[in-house]
Amino acid sequence: MWSYLFFTFIVVVYVHVVTSYYQRRIIPAIVVPLHVEVWHILNALQLSGIFYQLYAYEPIYVYPLSVRILELLCSVIFSDIYFYSTHRLLHVRFWFSYIHSWHHEVTEVYPWATLYAHPLENLLVNGGVAFIPAWYYQWNAFIAFLWLLFIFHNSLEAHTNRAGKHAQHHRFLSYNFGLQLFMDYLLGTTLL
Ligand SMILES: [Zn+2]
Ligand SMILES: [Zn+2]
Repeated sequence: MWSYLFFTFIVVVYVHVVTSYYQRRIIPAIVVPLHVEVWHILNALQLSGIFYQLYAYEPIYVYPLSVRILELLCSVIFSDIYFYSTHRLLHVRFWFSYIHSWHHEVTEVYPWATLYAHPLENLLVNGGVAFIPAWYYQWNAFIAFLWLLFIFHNSLEAHTNRAGKHAQHHRFLSYNFGLQLFMDYLLGTTLL
């Protein structure tokens, strides 16, 4: 119980501090709606809660890194395929109106919008990218946590760079569904 509360506290502080730092990098300053901030934090908690459930009793030690690096590279490729597919499905009218429109309430990206999404989207899309590789490769807590940090920061960058491809996705909806590795290029949905 106490370890869970401590872990939750650390996650809230970390996510808040890092997101605020990214937010300050955007000029001019934007007034972020409170509900966006709240859901960003709540969705971070949902993912960290899953992480805690999966890894609370896992000893933290470092595997031999060579194989893990290859697995991480494969996971990046998997993430583009998985994120592109599930994200594009969310743009089907039915799912968009009930689920994905939350995230697209934001038309000009800013960092606090990173995890501002319907909890189901956060669980199945963001959670899928976070936990399917960890489950498939049986990563220990250390590697899984590194992966979680990597994809969180990657997404934060995507919602900070207003000239970037994900910013274009928020503006025009029909382009740049993936993580900008190869899926959008393969399927002809790239907008530069
Ligand atoms: Zn979208
Ligand atoms: Zn977005």
